[in-house]
Amino acid sequence: MPKLLNLLLAVEHGMKKPVWDCTMCGQCVLHSTGMTCPMTCPKTLRNGPCGGVREDGHCEVKPEMRCVWVKAYDRKVSLPLPTVWKEHYNDLRPPVDMQLKGTSSWVNLITKRDQQTPAGWAKRQEETHSH
Ligand code: SF4
Repeated sequence: MPKLLNLLLAVEHGMKKPVWDCTMCGQCVLHSTGMTCPMTCPKTLRNGPCGGVREDGHCEVKPEMRCVWVKAYDRKVSLPLPTVWKEHYNDLRPPVDMQLKGTSSWVNLITKRDQQTPAGWAKRQEETHSH
């Protein structure tokens, strides 16, 4: 089994790195972001742009780079993506679980590992609700 997992990891990375500059966050959301990787945002924002987008649509951190979220919106509108993917654009995405970094998002999707809330976060949520 580890050999199969390693193979999937290598295939996923081999495909996504050249196309999306994928850093293997392990919880892929490409389908809902107009096939634009939010992890390429210098602030790794997964729920839309920050307040620093320049008037020309470029990034405040890297002025030479177009804002990932401006690009994501344009692509969501213009690419012939499945309607259901486009509908997921406005979903509220959970924070990145850094424990999944370097793992295969395909495997995590199948095993539903990417839907698990890390233990510390759940505790935090309970604390918040008890107040
Ligand atoms: S969202 Fe994560 S898995 Fe998907 S392309 Fe970006 S870094 Fe890779």
